[in-house]
Amino acid sequence: MPESEEARIFAAGLVMPVSASEIRDGAILVREGHIAAVGTLEDVGREYPDAGVRYFPHYTIIPGAVNAHAHLGFRRKDAPEGGTFAGWLAKLIERLPEKEAWTAEAARDSAREAIEAGTTFMAESSPYGECLPQLAESGLAGTVYAEFFPHEIGAPDEAVQFIIGKVRELREGLPERVDAQVSVHSPYTVDPESSRLAARRTREEGWHLAIHLSESPEEVEFVGDGTGRLANIFAKNDWGGTGLSPVRYAESIELLGPQTIAAHLATGVSEEDIEVLARTGVAAAHCPRSNEYLGCGVSPVTRMMERGVRVAMGTDGLWSSPSMNLFEETLFALELQGFEGATGLRLATLEGARALGMEAETGSLAVGKWADFAVIEALPDGADPEREVLEAAAGGGVVATVVGGRSIYDRIQGAAG
Ligand SMILES: [Zn+2]
Repeated sequence: MPESEEARIFAAGLVMPVSASEIRDGAILVREGHIAAVGTLEDVGREYPDAGVRYFPHYTIIPGAVNAHAHLGFRRKDAPEGGTFAGWLAKLIERLPEKEAWTAEAARDSAREAIEAGTTFMAESSPYGECLPQLAESGLAGTVYAEFFPHEIGAPDEAVQFIIGKVRELREGLPERVDAQVSVHSPYTVDPESSRLAARRTREEGWHLAIHLSESPEEVEFVGDGTGRLANIFAKNDWGGTGLSPVRYAESIELLGPQTIAAHLATGVSEEDIEVLARTGVAAAHCPRSNEYLGCGVSPVTRMMERGVRVAMGTDGLWSSPSMNLFEETLFALELQGFEGATGLRLATLEGARALGMEAETGSLAVGKWADFAVIEALPDGADPEREVLEAAAGGGVVATVVGGRSIYDRIQGAAG
């Protein structure tokens, strides 16, 4: 019988389901890729005596990381200098022709790095969905958000028609849990009419939408005053100077809604903007290490969470971030925002799934969800056990990653009893 159809028990010294209390000597029963039972090893073992058992007595099992905003097609090597967002972006654009030669390799490596860091779900954005083949091959579950750039295509209706058609094409023949959706890249690269049309079309289709929003001081300046270095990215962008904040502007062109995930929200997000985010039901992806590298400030995620905005974590790509390890990203957020470990572990897993509208399928160890989890080399006994586990996962302590019951990374195959 194929591995995924056989009932198997994965047990560990500690199981942290995230959606329920931790279980000492806990176990999950996996059948046909899904979690069929969660409990103590004793109880689950008694109930399913014929299931094979893989027991990691000195390890902790947690849900896999859900990376809600990333770009796979960048590499660690030769990142453009940070400091300012517009300076970095100008360098990146200059190097796009040279980048074509290594994007696919970078995407493979980025996906691999994420897997070895316990990631099970990846929301990736790339131009026209160019990194979909590497995501689909990786074994990860995930979504490619296909960015489109109207100045390369034509009039707004033509550009939107093109990207909708492109996404339909990308969806053909994909593995079961890999998907393609649309991304309206940003307020300074996609004109308002194309943005509005794309948001309407995707809403009509019941699709999801990804955007970058309120990321940098330069974006705030462009949207508000129509000036600054982003007024000349690609070509002359003449739609700035709205007198609005990026969040208000995005609302005015109908980009915000429950199906939309907005990355960053790092600079210039006021209380009034948070009100708009909460009212429209948009989700946020927090990428604090990228924000720091690009001089983009600190996102007010604590206030956003207090107001009921769904907040997830994202690594962004390797040209603005030091790693594809979402647990490391989360640990950085813990320091920055003063979160406890439990909040961090939740943000990296279940909240990521909620932000992407996937919480019925993944994000915690609960009966009925896909068996997406990571095995971590840690058996915490201190006051903040989730933090201990996050620290281990951030520091190379992931020893196995399982997606839909299938091991896609296993460093201790055969070593556990
Ligand atoms: Zn991004």
